[in-house]
Amino acid sequence: MKIEQAREVESRLRAALAKAGRREIGGMLMGEQLGPDHFRIVDFSIDAFSGSHSHFRRDPALHQKTLDEFFDRIGRNYQRFNYLGEWHSHPSFSVYPSVEDAETMTDIVENDDSVITFAALLIVRLRWRLWIDYSLTMFAKGRAPYGLEFSRRVVWL
Ligand SMILES: [Zn+2]
Repeated sequence: MKIEQAREVESRLRAALAKAGRREIGGMLMGEQLGPDHFRIVDFSIDAFSGSHSHFRRDPALHQKTLDEFFDRIGRNYQRFNYLGEWHSHPSFSVYPSVEDAETMTDIVENDDSVITFAALLIVRLRWRLWIDYSLTMFAKGRAPYGLEFSRRVVWL
């Protein structure tokens, strides 16, 4: 599996992190499929978390509403564009997923009521307003989570 990031996403993400400061933020990731096991993050939503960063467990109605907004924006081509996963920031500590992060993601892909069979977790941390630390972990039904290399085509200014 290979995941890259659209240029606009990177600058929007950096601006959102700078604005949030030490507040934890996150939301959903929308992907474009470029080939077999090859995706690009083309859009993301931003929810402000109340309380702990690990509270990104979504309610299904909000999830659907966010997806509908994505499709309104980027088009209803479900083969090409679809839900790719979740993201959130760890402004004050390592971008490594916490135990709760892993449990929440595992719930998303293992839940029998859900059509989601795989989902990426992107964790980000802005450093000195100049660069972003990343971790990207893939969760898939029936297998252990695994880390992914994140391919970035944009050079930081
Ligand atoms: Zn986390």
